Order: sequence, then structure tokens, then C-alpha cells
Amino acid sequence: MRKKRLAVIGAGGVGNVVVQKCARMDDIYEEMLLASRTQSKCDQIAARSGPVPVQTARVNADEVSEVVSLIKDFKPDVLINVALPYQDLSIMDACLATGVHYLDTANYEPPEIPKFEYSWQWAYRERFAEAGIMALLGCGFDPGVTSVFTAYGVKHYLDELHYLDIVDCNAGDHGRSFATNFNPEINIREITQKGRYWEDGKWVETLPLEIHQSVDYPRIGQRESYLLYHEELESLVKNFPSIKRARFWMTFSENYITHLRVLQNVGMTSIEPVDFEGIAIQPLQFLKAVLPEPASLGEGYAGETSIGCQMRGIQDGSERTCYIFNNCSHQEAYRDTGAQAVSYTTGVPAAIGARLMATGAWLEPGVWNIEEFDPDPFMELLPVYGLPWEIIIDGPLAFEDLPESSDD
Ligand code: NDP
Repeated sequence: MRKKRLAVIGAGGVGNVVVQKCARMDDIYEEMLLASRTQSKCDQIAARSGPVPVQTARVNADEVSEVVSLIKDFKPDVLINVALPYQDLSIMDACLATGVHYLDTANYEPPEIPKFEYSWQWAYRERFAEAGIMALLGCGFDPGVTSVFTAYGVKHYLDELHYLDIVDCNAGDHGRSFATNFNPEINIREITQKGRYWEDGKWVETLPLEIHQSVDYPRIGQRESYLLYHEELESLVKNFPSIKRARFWMTFSENYITHLRVLQNVGMTSIEPVDFEGIAIQPLQFLKAVLPEPASLGEGYAGETSIGCQMRGIQDGSERTCYIFNNCSHQEAYRDTGAQAVSYTTGVPAAIGARLMATGAWLEPGVWNIEEFDPDPFMELLPVYGLPWEIIIDGPLAFEDLPESSDD
């Protein structure tokens, strides 16, 4: 196989992990490029990556023409987008114009509306298929690995999946009074939105953080978990139509919720610009500027994350449960890449997805969500690149309020 050229856009917490992991894959890559808004961040990451050589460049990925020039100069086979969701469409346009395969970890979100959904990116399906190139959407952890866990559960253990609860716990301590583990602006927009889950063929809306319950996470214990809307729910209920109910839960500490409540109450999480001494300032963007960068949280971060899929359905006519999860230690992630576990658990799956595309194991023209591919090769590579997973069949699940299958 000819060795491939890989471009990465975005030099934040996730970009650091993606580049270091991919630069170790000298069996498939001959050269890499890391481009981002601030080139000095790219240079710092490139300096700690190898053996694949990593070039760096400055790009404003909001401008299609800048991304097109970057691609024409470097000539990548695959491009990984780990900038922000605002740049998804401009980078997809540039990939279309140049015939390069595309991968991202978060779906498009218009800057002026705190709303994310796949419609904008799914609208590229025909154009990507006609151009003979592939876009792999949502290849981080959630979305990403959670979608692959679901596909794996259905492929090997469940004739029909009925109930899906994705449970995401960060039981780590970074020692700061308040910080977000990935881009603060995107993170706070996600959490302050209304919650939503799928039940009996329709979406049910909740107030932000209205529904919560304690969940027992493996090797961590009980943690209060809040129902959120999360983007993989949208594609999973489409791709697995037997699902009767799908929900997403994430843990937050009392301290985090209190800080968030105060920030919301004083207007600091708003995306409506305010006038400050004649300058229009968006409070949430200003807040991002004063909070710690996600990429800076790794050192001294203790504890683990635990993210998994709790599934219940039918196999051979009998009820069956299936829980697939990964626990990731912040300290192990830091030892491997200098990153905390949230960046790590996002960057490693992106590196694996790009590897499967570059080697042709997952290569199909069009725009795809990750659960549409055979989960087996991805599941095989997860432990190889630092994310071992475990599976419990017919064990107890956190949510026992489900009707018996005979009632359905
Ligand atoms: P960071 O804020 O740490 O990094 C974002 C990077 O993108 C920064 O280097 C930033 O540049 C760069 N960037 C922003 N705007 C532009 C632009 N217009 N042109 C070029 N570069 C730009 O975020 P994270 O690394 O934490 O997150 C990266 C992505 O990963 C996000 O889309 C996030 O939603 C996604 N994510 C997905 C998860 C999953 O499990 N699926 C989990 C966590 C994150 P600068 O340094 O100049 O600010």
C-alpha cells in the first residue's frame, strides 16, 4: 500500500492527541500537516510528535479558499477536522473542491444559534458520493465510540435493541475551581440547552438539567448524572429503528453546576453581544477567554472517565442486557500524550477512524455516521491505541424503570 498524507485542522486539546497518535503510525503515513488559527500551537504539538514528520501552517478554516489552498499545497489523502463545529461546512466544501476524504468529531453548529443537528452535513451526501470521496461524521468518543459500541452490541448480542442509555462520567479532578474539559464555548452551549430524548417514535423535551439520577459507574461508584441532548442520539435512532427509547446522561459535580448556575444568572453564558465601552462583546466568548484552555488541564489531573452504552433488547426471543464501556485514566492519558482524558478519548478514536479510511478498511463514497460501518475493526483497534473496553452481558443496568419486554 502507498503511504498516505494526512492533514489535521485544529491545534487544541483534541488536535494534540490526534497528531501525536497519528504521527506514530509510520506504517501508513509518510507525512502530516497540522494547521490551525494559531500556528505557534501547531509548532508546539509538532515538536513533540513523530516519527512521521509533521509540517505546520496557519489557516482560518472559516474561509473555504484558505482551506482549499492549504489542501492544494500539501495534497493530503485524508483530512481530520478537530477545529470547532462552526468550521465543519467550510472544511467539507474545501474537501469537495479538492477531492479529499473528511473526518470530524462534532456536528455543525451555526455560530449565531446554539443548536446542533446533522441536517446541514447530511445535505452533502450526494455531492460527496458523486465526487467519490467519503465524510465520516462524529468520530470522537461521544459521538464516536458510543455509536460504535451500540453497533457492536446490535451486531453481536441483540437481535433487536429497544432501550439505549449512554452514560458519560468524568470522575476526574483537575484542581481548578471551574474549567471545561473541551472547548468552553461549545461545552457550555451544549449543557445550557434544553434536554431531549427519544421515546416511542418522537423527541421528548426537558428543561436544561431537569432530569437527573444517580448512576453506578464501574470502578468509580455512584455519580449524579443529568439527562442532556447529545448529537449521536439523532443518527442512532435513524440507523437502529428498533430503538424505543434513547437517552444520554452526563455527570456534573455540585461545584460545576453551582458555577454554571451563577454564570448563567449573571448573563455570562449568553451568546447575544453586549456593548462594553463601545465594543460589542459576546459574553460566552469572553468567558472562554478567561477560563483555562482544555489543553492545559492535563498536568496533575487525577481520576478516570467512564463512558459506555447500556443496552436492553431481545436476543433469541429472550430479554438481554449489554453494557459496553471504557474507563480512561487522566494520568495515563497525560503520560501518553500530555493531555487529559477528555481530549484523549476524543483524539484516539479520530486517529483510529482516519487509519481505517487511509487503509481502505472503511472507505465508501458519501457522508456517513460512524455506526453505519462494521464496528469490528474499530473495536479491535481501540485497545491497541490506548482505549481498552469491557462488556457485561445480562448484568444489572442503572435504569430499572423499564417495562418487561412482554409489555412492549
Ligand atoms: P479547543 O478549543 O481546545 O481547540 C480548538 C482548536 O481549533 C484551537 O486550536 C483553535 O484555534 C482552532 N480553531 C478555532 N477556530 C478556527 C478557525 N476558524 N480556523 C482554524 N482553526 C480554528 O477544543 P478541543 O480540542 O477541546 O475540541 C476540538 C473539537 O472536538 C471540537 O469541535 C469539539 O466539539 C470536539 N469534541 C468532540 C468530542 C467527542 O467526543 N465527539 C469531545 C470533545 C470535543 P486557537 O488555538 O487559535 O483558538
